[in-house]
Amino acid sequence: MRQVVMLLLALAFNNNTFSQTFLPASVRGHIEFLASDELEGRGTASLGEIRAANYIAGVFKNLSLKPAGNEGSFFQPFEVSFSIEGNAHKLTARNVVGFLDNGAKKTIVVGAHYDHLGKGFQGSSLSPNSKNQIHNGADDNASGTAGLLELAKYFAGNNMIEKHNFLFVAFSGEELGMIGSKYFTERPSIPLNSVSCMINMDMIGRLDPDKGVIVSGWGTSSAWGRLIPDLAKKEKLKYTVDSSGVGASDHTSFYLKDIPVLQFFTGTHVDYHKVSDDIEKINFEGESQILSLIAGLLREMDNQTTDPDFLTAGNPHTGSTTTDFKVTLGVMPDYSYTGKGLKIDGVSKARPADKAGILAGDIIKKLAGKEIGTIYDYMEILGQHEKGEQVEAEVLRGTETKTVKVTF
Ligand SMILES: [Zn+2]
Repeated sequence: MRQVVMLLLALAFNNNTFSQTFLPASVRGHIEFLASDELEGRGTASLGEIRAANYIAGVFKNLSLKPAGNEGSFFQPFEVSFSIEGNAHKLTARNVVGFLDNGAKKTIVVGAHYDHLGKGFQGSSLSPNSKNQIHNGADDNASGTAGLLELAKYFAGNNMIEKHNFLFVAFSGEELGMIGSKYFTERPSIPLNSVSCMINMDMIGRLDPDKGVIVSGWGTSSAWGRLIPDLAKKEKLKYTVDSSGVGASDHTSFYLKDIPVLQFFTGTHVDYHKVSDDIEKINFEGESQILSLIAGLLREMDNQTTDPDFLTAGNPHTGSTTTDFKVTLGVMPDYSYTGKGLKIDGVSKARPADKAGILAGDIIKKLAGKEIGTIYDYMEILGQHEKGEQVEAEVLRGTETKTVKVTF
């Protein structure tokens, strides 16, 4: 029965002037399940999250991807802690990881988070009286997850052996502060130095053709500016760019490991983080068009003789302007931290912060004599310095304030 349906769809689309690689109906099928009330909003570490993870693993298995989670499974469990009714609890969440092993040295990582706000108990809902209400998250991020599954199908089913492997990762814990992707980059299924780039999709379901798609991470490699304009023209897809590799989604975790990243996003809307982010408002045709662009880009990437170069780039709060900076501290910020200063979640070995004796758990209050309110202040300060310069950092460790010298 399934075969017959597929054939009819193929015939229907052959009547169009161009053949469509990604079928809006397939995209819809995934979103219909992932954003259904049955999954109760896919809250991190909830039963709905597990059911979504099972669905994703089922698709990976049907495509004969190799399980690249723990103990020969598709699942990579990790611990999350959050407060429920005022009490802190530790729970287990999971990333879902499938590997298309082409026997290549280098791997392209394609990712999307599949968790959402559940029934509103984990915070960050923007709906009034959100408690005990299902947040389906059709755009955020059933749409990106559907994209991940469709791209996996495309590359696993195209009867080609590409020059790269592809690792498809569905992250959980994103809504709680990119916990899944941070965990993954600390304990990756494959060595991070074999990752050529990371492509992320977070909210790609509401394309407005006049506004186009927002492509972030543009400044993290010179490859993007070389390849994307022609591909977008071919797809008749408008786009705007944001230089920064640091943003509100999982590509950030990879960028902070010096990996070139790209993030696709169709923009925020009135239903963002509300119970009304439902399937009725998804533009399936638009999403298919975006997937065509991404698939085209991945094919181009695969054909390049050299891997994309990595550039530090950023000024995350100024849209499409670029203020590239030449230095970093080599730290992983804790995005779930809401207090003043920059809380450090991890420190890269032999980078400036490590050399200065800054530890995970520290909060940087001041850098180069300037107060750090948010991560954006930190980025701005970085933009004002050159390699080799020495500055002072004021660090809060527990209750103790320390001043250390940092050499960029
Ligand atoms: Zn999201």
